[in-house]
Amino acid sequence: MEINSLGNIKRRVLLNPGPSTTTDSVKYAQIVPDICPREVEFSSLMKGLREDLVKIVHGDLKKYTAVLFCGSGTINIDVCLNSLLPKDKKILVVNNGAYSTRAVEICEYYGLPHIDLQFPVDERPVLERVEQVLKSNPDIAIVHTTHNETGTGILNPIREIGALAHRYNAVFTVDTTSTYAMRPIDIEKDNIDFCMASAQKGLTAFTGLSFIVGNTEIIKASADYPKRSYYCNLYMQYEFFERTGEMHFTPPVQTIYATVQAIKEYWAEGEEAKWARHTRVFNAIHDGLDELGFKDVIKRSEQAGLVVSAVYPDDPNWSFEKIHDYCYARGFTIYPGKISTTNTFRLCALGAIDEVDIKAFFEVFREALKKIGVVVPVVYKE
Ligand SMILES: *Cc1c(COP(=O)(O)O)cnc(C)c1O
Repeated sequence: MEINSLGNIKRRVLLNPGPSTTTDSVKYAQIVPDICPREVEFSSLMKGLREDLVKIVHGDLKKYTAVLFCGSGTINIDVCLNSLLPKDKKILVVNNGAYSTRAVEICEYYGLPHIDLQFPVDERPVLERVEQVLKSNPDIAIVHTTHNETGTGILNPIREIGALAHRYNAVFTVDTTSTYAMRPIDIEKDNIDFCMASAQKGLTAFTGLSFIVGNTEIIKASADYPKRSYYCNLYMQYEFFERTGEMHFTPPVQTIYATVQAIKEYWAEGEEAKWARHTRVFNAIHDGLDELGFKDVIKRSEQAGLVVSAVYPDDPNWSFEKIHDYCYARGFTIYPGKISTTNTFRLCALGAIDEVDIKAFFEVFREALKKIGVVVPVVYKE
């Protein structure tokens, strides 16, 4: 990073779906005296962190716990699915996007029996179909889905899916990586047994620390389930934490310091105010795109309020790469879409940013369109 003479770090507005823009206080929190993570000073830091991670989703500490892993967010999906499936049971993945497809791929890699219940990427899952599958497959022990499908920005009805999972005696695991600490979650009311995220998304810290928040009794019960991974076993990591207060293997020390600072800032801002800020940013993104004539992929009423997917216009001069490079050179990062059937790009409301950043971004974005000769408002053939 470039550091100017005042010691300030150049600020970039990241509109990609994580890692997100961080505050300078979070960046500097990584600069700490070297410490061996096996010292009590460090394990007591992790104890507080684990409790905070449960409290962020309003979990009762007597019932829920947080287990930390060193890795990017995908490690959580891997850990949950490979660790929580009893012998001779099946996983149902309610799949309407790229991140649930990743869960299906994890099942394939481990050879876990599973049903990939697919829905179109721009539609919410049909609950009646989920129920039918649960009814005709009593061996389903886990139902998994994604809260905000970050590839498109669609919000899935997790509370309803969770209620169905529980009605058919299955454990409900939800990939909340792109909603946790942004869109308010209540683990118990939302019928979640396990949710997950990583430090570089809603908490606006850094990549390297991921965590699963979930039901302690279910983790304990999984002690006897088949062991399918050594590094990525939920019970093993949980049990080690409970016994020693430490992570089984080397933790991402500096990232943990930054995350502890980020959580202080989370509590200082407050859940409601933070969600209101993300909503302001999200609305400003929509206003900017509407003004330029861009079309959304997902119905506005079904968006999770954090990721906007816009369709490439039908203009011969359009070039995502050129626009990206122009904006990047001016401190703004935009991101391609993740839908195989439509060419899209994404603007996300994740980080330590506010409405003014979006206004400033759209000035640059508009200049970029003009510079490469894209007609504004943009045009679509149909
Ligand atoms: C970011 C994200 C992940 C994790 O991706 P990594 O590249 O492993 O950090 C998982 N699920 C969702 C929904 C995400 O948005």
